[in-house]
Amino acid sequence: MIPVTKPFLPKVNEFEEYIHSIWERQWLTNNGPLVNELELKLKNYLEIKHLLFVSNGTIALQIAIKALGLTGEIITTPFSFVATTNSIVWEGCKPVFVDIDEETFNIDPKKIEAAITPQTSAILATHVYGNPCDIDAIQEIADRYSLKVIYDAAHCFGTKYKNKSVFAYGDVSTTSFHATKVFHTIEGGAVFTQCPDLLKKMALMRNFGHDGPDEFSELGINGKNCEFHAAMGLCNLKEIDEILDKRRLLSFYYWKALANLEARYPKLNENLDYNYAYFPVLFDSEDLMLRCLKALENEKVYCRRYFYPSLSTLPFVTSPHMPVCDSVSRRILCLPLYHTLTSSDLDLITRIILRVQNYDRPAEIERLNHVIPINNLKPVFAGLQNGAV
Ligand SMILES: *Cc1c(COP(=O)(O)O)cnc(C)c1O
Repeated sequence: MIPVTKPFLPKVNEFEEYIHSIWERQWLTNNGPLVNELELKLKNYLEIKHLLFVSNGTIALQIAIKALGLTGEIITTPFSFVATTNSIVWEGCKPVFVDIDEETFNIDPKKIEAAITPQTSAILATHVYGNPCDIDAIQEIADRYSLKVIYDAAHCFGTKYKNKSVFAYGDVSTTSFHATKVFHTIEGGAVFTQCPDLLKKMALMRNFGHDGPDEFSELGINGKNCEFHAAMGLCNLKEIDEILDKRRLLSFYYWKALANLEARYPKLNENLDYNYAYFPVLFDSEDLMLRCLKALENEKVYCRRYFYPSLSTLPFVTSPHMPVCDSVSRRILCLPLYHTLTSSDLDLITRIILRVQNYDRPAEIERLNHVIPINNLKPVFAGLQNGAV
């Protein structure tokens, strides 16, 4: 069975060492030493000034919206995980969807202005698959209309934009450290801001608004995270460069093996150091995508329609039709991508897909039976030999 993703797990004895230290200290949560250590190490790794470790990526979004005091309408993307829209609605604001760019699948800045009304307070955009939005264009619009900008950067661990962590952009950026993400703490997330006042406010909000033992200076919630999750993060952070390298290799292998597929891939931002968080394939037709999905499932390869459907069709929102997002979300499929995937797994997956496409071209199928992609790729992908990555 090949799932769409597998969580990275560190060596169990490394995790156990941290667990023993927790037992010795008997300090389980509430800003403990491992949480502090993780926050410090993450700041160093990401080369970023401020960060708050929180319980998950959804509460990170909620805290960001609350801390910025957003009300009324928030312009957002219909092509994201449901948590992006949910957090807007949960905070009592109205999501106003703006369609996505046909090439990047991120919110289309050219369509934002037409959606701004006197009630608009912010833009909440997702860097889809870890590929940054058109940050400059969005900031320019936000400045002109005095809007706040939040980036849902849940896919972006390790991504850099213009040589800086992408988490450094927007009034607030948020991320998720959920088990399915590139870097994870089992459950977890973070908020980022460059503004010290906003940081202080979010730090208070994360901890019930506690400002000293008997003082409450803010409305707060429980957005803390704990020592056990921090321990997992500390273990995983040691391996992150290797994880990112493997994902890059695997992605290049896919691109090369699928060069003749009737499909395309998101256009990556030019100012980008990418983290290869997902391997999305936009098929030319929904029919071909569905046939591939089925054929792969028959061989116990499980992909994911991510994201589907368009968030503008959720039952608790109202929105005009989003034609680009609708079309992309119907045709897109994320192929399996995780650190222990082998070259023979990739051969299997890519051949199933190409066979489906070429079902009425027996000569092509015959050729597929003989071409062993790994041999073609040998010099570039030496790291993938013998099925081991
Ligand atoms: C995973 C994800 C979230 C939510 O993160 P959780 O930690 O699961 O709450 C939000 N937005 C996007 C785009 C995501 O992929």
